[in-house]
Amino acid sequence: MAKVFIGIGSNLFNPIYQVKLALKKLRKNPLLEGLRPSPLYLSPPVGSINQPHYCNAVAEFSTLLEPEALLDELQALEYEQGRKRLTKWGPRTLDLDILLYEDLALETARLTIPHPRMFERGFVLIPLQDLLPSSYLPGGQNIKKLLKKCADNKCVKKLQ
Ligand code: ATP
Ligand code: CA
Ligand code: CA
Repeated sequence: MAKVFIGIGSNLFNPIYQVKLALKKLRKNPLLEGLRPSPLYLSPPVGSINQPHYCNAVAEFSTLLEPEALLDELQALEYEQGRKRLTKWGPRTLDLDILLYEDLALETARLTIPHPRMFERGFVLIPLQDLLPSSYLPGGQNIKKLLKKCADNKCVKKLQ
């Protein structure tokens, strides 16, 4: 079994509902075991597009799926929840990114692991820290140190 961390985001059509629904479906998926979700966070959008705030979370689970098969599974769930790819980094009902897959480093046409932008995103690192109280990522980096270097680490609020 591989231990995986994914990032979950939504900023359309009731983002909190979308993230909770995605977590419910991930929990029910027999190919993914032992789902452990972080709390939900509210974060401002990154980039220049004017769009609503995001609800973000991170989840950990174990799976026998290979990385590309896992991406297929996650993309199917994005489409089930109405994901349309209109503009890069534009608003979306559901975004599921593979952050870490064990300590694997992979680069194919469809998939880069670790997710190349996760180390500079507060909305990924802060919920990840909730799931990893030791603050160490499987690859050995320290989340607290990454957060100190991270520009958008202050603008994230825990929901509930
Ligand atoms: P970002 O990757 O900066 O968070 P995004 O999530 O908005 O941007 P998408 O439009 O959701 O980007 O995805 C574009 C493509 O990225 C996907 O079709 C997928 O093939 C590819 N991709 C590469 N690495 C990953 C990964 N680790 N997790 C998910 N998708 C990935
Ligand atoms: Ca993303
Ligand atoms: Ca994505």
